[in-house]
This record gives sequence, C-alpha cells and structure tokens, in this order.
Amino acid sequence: MKTLILGGTREGRDLADLLVTGGHEVITSLAGRVRRPAHIVGEVRVGGFGGADGLADWLLDNRIDRVVDATHPFAEQISTNAAMACRKTGTPLLRITRPSWASHPLAATWTWVDSHDDASKEAAGCGKVLLTVGKQSLDHYRNLPNVAARMVELPEEPLPVSWQPLLERGPFTIDSEKELLHNLGIDVLVTKDSGGSLTDAKLTAAGDLGVRVIVVRRAPVPKDVAQVATPQEALAWVNRTS
Ligand code: NAP
Repeated sequence: MKTLILGGTREGRDLADLLVTGGHEVITSLAGRVRRPAHIVGEVRVGGFGGADGLADWLLDNRIDRVVDATHPFAEQISTNAAMACRKTGTPLLRITRPSWASHPLAATWTWVDSHDDASKEAAGCGKVLLTVGKQSLDHYRNLPNVAARMVELPEEPLPVSWQPLLERGPFTIDSEKELLHNLGIDVLVTKDSGGSLTDAKLTAAGDLGVRVIVVRRAPVPKDVAQVATPQEALAWVNRTS
C-alpha cells in the first residue's frame, strides 16, 4: 500500500516520519519552490504534475493507494487539483488542515481581509510593516515603502531597494518576536492565516507591544474532502485504510 504525501510543510515532514517508522511505503511530493528544503524521511519527488489530469495519471502510473494533502493552507491550487484527481481515479484523499488562527484569543483584535491586495491597502500609510506572508505573495505589497520582509529564501525578482529582507525559518519564540518588532520599530504586522502553533509567537508578541495585526483569510478546503488537524490523526487514517 503506497501513500503519496503532498508536502512542503512541517505536517508533511512529520507524517512522512511517522509513516516510514510505521513501515509504510511513502512518497512525498514537493513543488520545488525552496532551493534548500528541510530534510524529509523516505522517498521524495520534486516538481508539478501538470494539473489535475497530470496528477490523476501520476497516481495511476505509480500505483498510489491513497493521498494525504499536507500542503500549506494557502496552497489552494494543488489542493483543488488533488481533490479532482482523487475523485477521477477513486483514490482516497485526506487533507491535513492546520487549525486556523480565527480561534486565537487575540483574533477579534486583528483586521481580517480577504486578499493580499486588501492587506496591502490596509497597511498603506500605517508606518513600518513587518511582512510575514511568504516570498510568493510579496508582489502584492511592492507599493509599500517601509517594509521588513521575513521569508525562508529570497524570491527570484529583486525586492524594492527600500525593503529590509530577513531570511529566517521558524519556529520563533515570543521573546525573540518581541525583540524583532521592537528593534525594527514595527507598527503593523501583516500575515496570512497560516494557523497552527509553529509561527504564532509573532501574534502574541504583537498583542503585547500594541502592534497592529492584519490577517489574510484562507480560502475554504474543497468540498467533500475528509479533514484532520494533525499528522498523528493522518497516520491513524492511513492505518485504517491499509
Ligand atoms: P499552489 O499555488 O497550490 O500550486 C501551484 C502549482 O504548484 C500546482 O498546480 C502544482 O503544479 C505545483 N505544486 C504545488 N504543491 C505541490 C506539491 N506539493 N507537489 C508537486 N507539485 C506541487 O501551491 P503554492 O502556494 O505554490 O505552494 C507550493 C508548495 O509550497 C506546497 O507544497 C506548499 O505546501 C508549500 N508552501 C506554500 C506556502 C504558501 O503560502 N502558498 C507556504 C509554505 C509552504 P502542477 O499543476 O503542475 O501539478
């Protein structure tokens, strides 16, 4: 029984570890966005499949028995493709949905917006911005002059010269996040609702320092896709469907 993990997240890496330790055959798929991805246990393949039909063919060609979509909550296209390809091929699909920050104790104090463009408009004229939206979304914010942008790797396109890039991979602590916000003189934190506990220290730190927070909402998960919140629950699903 072979499991495909659509990865690129901590949850995907943790699930690969759990499955390999449990003696399962597993392939993790990465889009190839990051030049130096974190280590993943087990077999790894890199690159797109060529849309939903390409993924469907790939599932059949590689005799995949089930798929776990552990991609980032904002990787919407691949999740849609996975739902279509699994429906077409009759392959069981499970989505690991990282819990949203909508239930964070401070969530009601933040400005929630539907898109990066709306977040950019909200942040304009509000002072110095800390952008933690990932390198793929930076283009929406190029109109903002006073920006520190945190990301794992620089994007291909050069950043505006006035911007300060911060190349770091989380997790971060509340104390280190407070130090960063304070030292850089940040007025506004812009983030997307990535959710979970790995990168939420910045939200508490911003609350403690009175830094305004703007959050980009998630799109809903495709209908009819079973969901769990953790890699441990995904392991239980794999064991049940083996
Ligand atoms: P996306 O917009 O949903 O996907 C765009 C295209 O990239 C897909 O149609 C697919 O190409 C390819 N792709 C995406 N994820 C893939 C995977 N795991 N394996 C093989 N091909 C994949 O996704 P994205 O936002 O570019 O994210 C790409 C990867 O980065 C994901 O693995 C995601 O977990 C990770 N990531 C994303 C974010 C984010 O904020 N978006 C943050 C952290 C990590 P084809 O149509 O050719 O198959």
